Parts: sequence; structure tokens; C-alpha cells
Amino acid sequence: MATVLDIAKHNPNAATLAVSDAARVAGFVEKKAELNVVAGAAPGGASLIGLTRDQLKDSLSQIGVPERDLKMRVAQLWHWIYFRGAKDFAEMTNVGKELRARLAAAYTLARPQVVSEQVSKDGTRKWLIRMASTGPLDKGAEIECVYIPEVDRGTLCVSSQVGCTLTCSFCHTGTQRLVRNLTSAEIVAQLIVARDSIGDWPHATPPEGAFVPTDGSRFVSNIVFMGMGEPLYNTDNVIAAIDVMSDGEGLTLSRRRITVSTSGVVPQMERLGSEANTMLAISLHAVRDELRDELVPINRKYDIAQLLDACRAYPGLSNARRITFEYVMLKGVNDSDADARQLVRLLKGIPAKINLIPFNPWPGSKYECSDWERIERFSEIVFRAGYASPVRTPRGRDILAACGQLKSETEKLRARARMMAEQGIGAEGVYAVGNGE
Ligand code: SF4
Repeated sequence: MATVLDIAKHNPNAATLAVSDAARVAGFVEKKAELNVVAGAAPGGASLIGLTRDQLKDSLSQIGVPERDLKMRVAQLWHWIYFRGAKDFAEMTNVGKELRARLAAAYTLARPQVVSEQVSKDGTRKWLIRMASTGPLDKGAEIECVYIPEVDRGTLCVSSQVGCTLTCSFCHTGTQRLVRNLTSAEIVAQLIVARDSIGDWPHATPPEGAFVPTDGSRFVSNIVFMGMGEPLYNTDNVIAAIDVMSDGEGLTLSRRRITVSTSGVVPQMERLGSEANTMLAISLHAVRDELRDELVPINRKYDIAQLLDACRAYPGLSNARRITFEYVMLKGVNDSDADARQLVRLLKGIPAKINLIPFNPWPGSKYECSDWERIERFSEIVFRAGYASPVRTPRGRDILAACGQLKSETEKLRARARMMAEQGIGAEGVYAVGNGE
């Protein structure tokens, strides 16, 4: 996969759908990045939103801020951008007028465009976000980002790529071709957009009637990299984004509350643990290689045994820092008692939690969700073996914001809305704001 993305980096206009040698040998199709934006570049080249400290330093240098002042100026910008959520340089009252004018002449604090916002009847919000154009041929990549509020926490599910290279057969996102990796700034910008939208800054208030945590927790307290894309195919940018999100003087999210979910990019897992020190989730979904080859085709490259060895070696693993194994419940496919028992056997010795996910249907998918009794029985077997095995309540199903349902492109949203209506998949209680085309 790295080879594929490297080629794209060297030839940004390279055509899509080339198949890497490794993938050909492994027998599955990886779709190729058509355009890789320079890591860390500000979207559109001028916004400071989402930049790392080093990138901010470069930006200040470029407008003539002397070297001796850079550290102090970066700290000031950092505070205004990431702690206060400033949208205008004019708000930065401890920055001199002259420098504010220079900043405003060279840069912006523009967020990516929110094309639409949908709010589920359960309070889940889904944004379709258009990133700034990266050149004359790019109309701006679109990604989706989902906010899942609960009484005691608010979880933001972010995307790491535009589309996905992998083709997990139960996943709607996997049917969208990969366009490119997101930059670290574009990953962080999703959090900024969410905090703008739900009023999660000092002195801001949530929109009327919005569902946000009510116990005093921060509105966005947790981040999961479970949106579009495979985070460990974009590891540099994901790690840089996590550094910004968890910085104690800005967005201050605890690394223990950031979870990176991978389909099993084994060679990158150790690096994630040692450099980003986040929680890890694995999209497991099957306990036999033959079935996992079909459901999660990267399994043909790194099989279950290799994946679990990498889990055992994950830095910092302990009972307090368990790995979450995601297991989507597919009727008659992976939901038997024997599957549950095999799951328990496989995970022996790994501090683990198991999330059972009722399959979220999407138009055109070939799977059905397991019956409720089956899910309970499966959960019971896993629970008796000593594993917490919560069944994840599907959230935002009515706006296709639930797991594996993300897929952008306004065209497709339109088609999907039509198909949902035809199939009677409820869309009531959903409203859209913004300029949803
Ligand atoms: S489950 Fe994740 S890795 Fe698999 S196709 Fe969907 S987004 Fe990609």
C-alpha cells in the first residue's frame, strides 16, 4: 500500500485504480490515491486552521516574524486558534495590531466548508465537509464526520482519507473510490468544525435543542478514527493530527480518549502505539481467515494470526488499556455459537473489549443484521468468557451516520435518499441545514 501512495505522491495526477503488486499477489483490489496533498499543507494554502506548531512557525517566519519571537508568537496563535476557537485575527487582542494586519493579509482562519449538516432524532450529527481545493483540477474533496452525543461524553468520529482503498464487503464507505489522504490539518479541522457547530468553545453555546453531554463533560470528549478511510494508510498525518488534538495548551483531548481503528495494517501498529500512544481498535469481524478474506480483504495480506501477534505486541497494552475488537453481526455469516467460542479462543491473553455491532444496512448491501436473540446469545458466550461485550446501539441510522455507512459525494447522497425512501428506511426526524445540494 505504501508503494501505491508513494507513486501517487510522486505523480499527483496519476490515474486511479492501479493495483499494487502486493495486492495483485494477495488477490484483492486496493484502489489507489489519485492525489496526495503535501502532508501538513494548509488546505487552500492560506488557512492556519489545523496546523501543527512547526507549521505555524513556518507560516509566521514567512511573513517576517523574527526567529527570536517565533516561540512566543506560536504560543499566542495556538491559544487563540485551539483553545478559544478564534475565527478572526482581530480577536487576538494580545497580538500587536501590526502583526494582526500582516497575518490577516497573508492567511485566514477559514474552516473547511460545511456542505450539509444532518441531525438524527437521537441527536447524532453528520456533517458533509468540503475541503479547500488543492489546485485548478480539484473541486474540493468531500468527507463525512459524525458526532455521537451521550449524557456523559461526546464522541467525534473522524475520517482519515477521502474514500478508502480497502473494500470491506459490509462497508458502504468501501464502495467509494479513494481520492486521497487527508492532511493532518484537514483531520484536525474536522474537530474544529464540530466544535464550532455544537458551540464547544469558551463563551459559545450549543444550538437550541442540541443534544450534548449534560454532566459537565466536554461536548467533544472522545475521538475515534472510524470514519472514512484506513488511518494506518495515512499514519504520518494521523499521528501529527493526534499531536495537535491532544496538546495540553489547545484542544487538550486525552490520548486515552482517542481511538484509532484499523482493519489490520500490521506493520504500522507498533508505530501508532509508540508514537501516538492512543487506544487501538481492530475491525476483526471474522474468526476464520477464509471468511475474513472476504469481509476484510486486507486479511489476505496480513492474516488473523499476524494481526493478533501485532496486537499482543501493541505498546502500552494492559488491563487498563485494552484493545477493542469490533465485530459486526451479520446474519448467518459470522454469528454462530461456534464463531463466538472461536473468538474467545483467539483473543486469549490479549487485554480486550469486544464491541458487537448490529449491521447497519445500506442500499445495495448483501448482508442482513443478525436477529436480536442471536446477538444476545453471541454476547452471552463472550461475556461468560470474561470479556466485556457491549452491543453497540446503532446511532444515527436514520441519517446513514452509523458504522460502515459513511460515504460522501453529494450525488450519492441524493441517490441514497431516493433509495431510502423507496425501501422505507426511515428518514423522518432528520433535517438538513446548510446548502445540501
Ligand atoms: S471498514 Fe474501514 S477499512 Fe474497510 S472499507 Fe470501510 S472504511 Fe475502509
